[in-house]
Amino acid sequence: MATIRICNVEGCQRKHVSHGLCQMHYNATPAARATRVRYRATPAGKASKARYKATPAGRAAQARHRAAAKERAKGLPETPQAPTLALNAQ
Ligand SMILES: [Zn+2]
Repeated sequence: MATIRICNVEGCQRKHVSHGLCQMHYNATPAARATRVRYRATPAGKASKARYKATPAGRAAQARHRAAAKERAKGLPETPQAPTLALNAQ
């Protein structure tokens, strides 16, 4: 009887893909991120990214990323360097 291997991450029941992990958890590893960054720097990767951005899902993802960045910017102090500069001035 064939067995189906599942992800090694505790509580994750997804199907195993690589290095003991499911696709979602493997994609989050530094090795997978580096591979993605290298691919996106190639002409094929840039074209792929452009095609995705032109889809409704891609536009929605961009809107979410922009909104999240705006929220992060709101949470930051106005001048984060100011206290350090003041301390250095003494
Ligand atoms: Zn997993």
